[in-house]
Amino acid sequence: MLDCFKAIYTTCIITIRTAQGYYSLNTPNIIDDRQSLLSIQGESPDRGVLVEMAGLENIKTITVVGAGTMGHGIAEVAAIAGYNVYLVDIKQEFLDNAVEKIKWSLKKLYEKGVVREPVETVLSRIKTVVNLNPDGSYTEEFAKVLKETDFMIEAIIERLDIKQKLFAFADEHAPEHAILATNTSSLPITEIAAATKRPEKVVGMHFFNPPPLMPLVEVIKGEKTSDETVEITVALSKKFGKQPVVVKKDVPGFIVNRILGRFINTACNLVAKGKATIEEVDATVKYVLGLPMGIFELSDYSGIDVFYYVFQAMAERGFKTTPCPLLKEKFEKKEFGMKTGKGFYTYPAPGKYARPNIPKDLAGKVDPVLLLAPAVNEAAWLLENDVATKEDIDKAVKLGLGWPKGVLEFADEYGIDKIVEALKKLKEELGLEEMEPQPLLLKMVEEGKLGRKTGKGFYEYGEVEEIKKKNLVIRIEKPIAWIVLNRPKRLNALSPELLKELGEALDELEDNNDVRVVILKGEGRAFSAGADVTAFAGVTPMDIAKFSRRFQELTLKMQFYTKPIIAALHGYVLGGGLEIAMSTDIRIAAEGTMFGQPEINLGFIPGAGGTQRLPRLVGRGQAKLLIFSGDMIPADEALRIGLVEKVVPPERLEQEARALALKLAEKPPLALMAAKYAVEYGLESNIWAGLSLEAHLFGLLFSTEDVIEGVTAFLEKRKPKFKGR
Ligand code: NAD
Repeated sequence: MLDCFKAIYTTCIITIRTAQGYYSLNTPNIIDDRQSLLSIQGESPDRGVLVEMAGLENIKTITVVGAGTMGHGIAEVAAIAGYNVYLVDIKQEFLDNAVEKIKWSLKKLYEKGVVREPVETVLSRIKTVVNLNPDGSYTEEFAKVLKETDFMIEAIIERLDIKQKLFAFADEHAPEHAILATNTSSLPITEIAAATKRPEKVVGMHFFNPPPLMPLVEVIKGEKTSDETVEITVALSKKFGKQPVVVKKDVPGFIVNRILGRFINTACNLVAKGKATIEEVDATVKYVLGLPMGIFELSDYSGIDVFYYVFQAMAERGFKTTPCPLLKEKFEKKEFGMKTGKGFYTYPAPGKYARPNIPKDLAGKVDPVLLLAPAVNEAAWLLENDVATKEDIDKAVKLGLGWPKGVLEFADEYGIDKIVEALKKLKEELGLEEMEPQPLLLKMVEEGKLGRKTGKGFYEYGEVEEIKKKNLVIRIEKPIAWIVLNRPKRLNALSPELLKELGEALDELEDNNDVRVVILKGEGRAFSAGADVTAFAGVTPMDIAKFSRRFQELTLKMQFYTKPIIAALHGYVLGGGLEIAMSTDIRIAAEGTMFGQPEINLGFIPGAGGTQRLPRLVGRGQAKLLIFSGDMIPADEALRIGLVEKVVPPERLEQEARALALKLAEKPPLALMAAKYAVEYGLESNIWAGLSLEAHLFGLLFSTEDVIEGVTAFLEKRKPKFKGR
């Protein structure tokens, strides 16, 4: 059973009984909803993995300078990892305050078993030092501490002159082997290093707030930083239980802030130019892309002033961007977000957080590709300029921003061609010069490396297999497959031959373990305009009855198929076409699609389940209205009565269907099947039979490896890899 208390620093204890025995797992949960989202969606830190590396063993004493928001957290992380820590600040009261905060946090972590040593033991490794004399010079004691320092991490005020002064002093007093790291968010490592005689030993070590909980560290190479320094800093980050990424060039904003900068700034410009509303953007980001917070919600939460300063500092260093007037306006009005009680949203009181109201039904009102494309373009720039590897870029976005997928993974999913189109649109319609697509993206489009749909994009997905039948095409883009009805000249009229091929295609894909979700769509102007009535010419009523029975068999095959089937609908979905669509699990329709059961107009009735499935989906009255009148209804009406689950602009139909299919393909296949069966069989039975089936399927799933994987991954805060076993 799952026993999980959610509060600040909570613990989950999970015990699963499986065929193999009991598994008990106990792990800390995270600080609050936002953090849990961020961490759960990230990957597991290499906690406990000892990274041995030349130089790392020499590090015994770590000095953290600056005991503010970041410094005290970094000191805590270093002490937990077993290092002797000097925590340095300009005033004793700042240090006392920092120690209190560390104590509080350690207590929580100890209570939940994340930190195994008693609080006092960890705390005893942290010594505090005041480093500033009243005349502004550094104290003797600080010089002495530096002499003992193997690794310094600076987290003081974000001012180049003050940091340079500190680094010059540290350089003078620290031993030759000591590495001097800076946690700066926006200043050049190279310029900080220039204040020392050891630039090869000066490195960026950019933690995320709060350091004890956020798993990402960006390790930044200044112009003169040696590879060895980078390697040791990477190794030390791992010893801290963090997941480092290497930023190979000292570019403003490193990885995360550059991508975030593009993401926020473009969305803000879209709103400023009246192309979308704040809520539409945030709903799309949260509910379509699945990010933990909307763009404006995040800005308010972190502080509009914080982003304003960081982006300004980046712009001063050459990060070309068109400033968003809305962000400036908020900044000038001192409407910084949650901390001032007002930002893009309004809060109950300054500093009092309440989740902004972001209506779910606005999700998708903005094309998610328009929001993603600037971030992808920036990632492409980082790749082109050899600033970071694609794996590190995606890791940084997942761990630093809590994205459920890397920015490049998203790009592959939505299609590089669509990303380029969106960039061009943003450039033209908003006049954003920085949206010029990166040459890398243009080259990828030229070479047909469009992402998942061609089997190759930023990542490789294996060959896309295309099997052409007489009346349909099967496209296997592992782990999903498309069945495309392919009689476009006849609006994909359903001939007996097409239906036979469809049944066979479904059988083949059911046996294919590489395929987890099937999408059904139509080629040309329609999904399907219905049965091919020309095939009825000259046949006997008994032949028609047989045709009907075979067709019904096919619809049952789909209803009880062992994998989810999604219908991507456009143009006309009529008669038999609608009956097929109604047998799938989820229906997504393009705006403008027309639905109907027009059989009555020809003197007969729906013969492939229409009279049965339509009332089950939309209720008796609506079903009778459609069947009796033979009228067609548009997509928005179909959505209203529950005939389809989602309506999207036509140009986004394929991408939406693919995104949903890929999302479902990550879920445990056996649980998906069980869920489908519980719903489908349950709806056809009484509640006692339905509930009994549900209970048995629920229990049965606990004999699967996927349950162990799911729960273990949850506890290890990584993405599960379900095998369907
Ligand atoms: P902060 O203002 O909370 O803390 C800075 C601390 O440094 C203060 O306690 C101050 O008294 C002390 N200080 C100032 N000058 C000093 C000196 N010469 N010697 C010793 N101590 C000194 O700031 P913060 O948010 O912790 O940021 C610190 C650094 O970390 C900055 O470079 C910032 O860009 C970076 N950073 C901040 C965040 C964040 O989310 N706050 C995230 C990543 C990186």
